[in-house]
Amino acid sequence: MSRPVPISVQHSMAREDSFICIHCGRAVPIPEGKGTRNRNHCPACLWSRHLDITPGDRRSGCKAPMEPVAIWCRPGGEWALIHRCTACGMLKANRIAGDDNEFALLQIAAMALAQPPFPIAGRGPVLDPSGGGPVLNPSRGGQPERSTSS
Ligand SMILES: [Zn+2]
Ligand SMILES: [Zn+2]
Repeated sequence: MSRPVPISVQHSMAREDSFICIHCGRAVPIPEGKGTRNRNHCPACLWSRHLDITPGDRRSGCKAPMEPVAIWCRPGGEWALIHRCTACGMLKANRIAGDDNEFALLQIAAMALAQPPFPIAGRGPVLDPSGGGPVLNPSRGGQPERSTSS
């Protein structure tokens, strides 16, 4: 009376070419040779985990979740994610990947602008609510003042 065990359960947790996101529980495949060999964050929620001492070595004893806290725009325009460890506070910069959730990336990039620590109203160029772009202050208009006393 020995029935074959149905192989319905994928052993995704044990595979070395994927990991389970510590934040949202998603199984994250690690693509081969796409410039993301050391894929270290979830493409959906962008959370990471404090596993490495040097990139890819998996030798950190911390293992705590790392929250994506900021976008760093590198010289040349490449974006990197700044992760902060929720246990030890370590900050790390990680390259973004082609399959990262673009809306989640933009949310992090806009986070600081959404909560400025100082009032913005009344400073700098005023945005036209009709969508016409910045309304420049017409004072002097950039023309050098000339004393017309001829
Ligand atoms: Zn996730
Ligand atoms: Zn840590």
